[in-house]
Amino acid sequence: MKVLLTGGAGYIGSHVVRAVRGAGHTPIVYDNLSKGHAESLEADLIVADVSDGAALRVALEENEIDAVIHFAAFIEAGESVGEPGRYFRNNTVAGLTLLEAMRETNVKRLVFSSTAAVYGQPPVVPIEEDSPLVPINPYGSSKLCVEYMLRAYAQAYGMGFVALRYFNVAGADPAGDIGEDHTPETHLIPLVLQVPLGKREHITIFGQDYDTPDGTCIRDYIHVSDLADAHVLAAGAIEPGMVKVYNLGNGEGFSVKQVIETCRTVTGHSIPVVIGSRRAGDPARLVASSARAMRELGWRTKFPRLEEIVTHAWRWHSNHPSGYA
Ligand code: UDP
Repeated sequence: MKVLLTGGAGYIGSHVVRAVRGAGHTPIVYDNLSKGHAESLEADLIVADVSDGAALRVALEENEIDAVIHFAAFIEAGESVGEPGRYFRNNTVAGLTLLEAMRETNVKRLVFSSTAAVYGQPPVVPIEEDSPLVPINPYGSSKLCVEYMLRAYAQAYGMGFVALRYFNVAGADPAGDIGEDHTPETHLIPLVLQVPLGKREHITIFGQDYDTPDGTCIRDYIHVSDLADAHVLAAGAIEPGMVKVYNLGNGEGFSVKQVIETCRTVTGHSIPVVIGSRRAGDPARLVASSARAMRELGWRTKFPRLEEIVTHAWRWHSNHPSGYA
């Protein structure tokens, strides 16, 4: 299978490129390199933007693409609250451009990177896929809009889709040669690890007055390599006209304080903390039920333990303190 990965030079994309290749398929990356890293890639690279429908059509046709995995997006919930237009343009409008390019070139299979942010403040955890969809930030809304488009395109044109709702993706390939490198970094685990790396003096906890046992937000952290495997399974499972949605998490929640404690254990560093105010757009608690992905896709995680996730992240960051630079 020839697979086009938009945003394939990013953190998750680069790990999925490896998984696609490992499964015997041919990955072709389509990335504008605004945030991605060509150095991470073991694949052909087309440097272009997902908002460029003409470039997309050429890429899909000339490479005889069988399936698309669409990562290219802005991903920061907090930022999206202050800049909603950028999120709807880059995530929703560009998503529509991609669907149109696929329709025009008769490419009928897509795996879409969705997010736990589509659930907003879930009334019950673990979250099942049929929980209410009430995003509380424009990031979640921008992704949910695309999920709605997928349903319409499946019905109208017989295209087939899987939307994967990611929980908190972390860690790095155990081989240690690819990993997370965002500028600026906003995610908890890489930021915490900057303290033992000597790049920051402390980590700020965004609020400890949430309705959780220690007052800090609870998230479900999933290893990026496990997440990557689900994409290969999803791409292989797509049938014409189908829309399936799967949560991808470990089913266990960790508070911000527990994550910091795990980073202390893994790195042997004391990691000082400062308590700050809440970050806009943060729900208190997000924990997945991934039973459906396990049942229907046969997905199994290899690295479910938070300590292992942090260990692999630490291996990458301590060996590449400046990322890919
Ligand atoms: N967080 C924090 N300090 C930081 C970065 C993140 O306390 O410097 C918290 C954030 O408020 C959230 C959790 O860590 O509760 C995970 O945030 P992240 O940005 O990694 O992922 P998100 O849940 O937004 O997708």
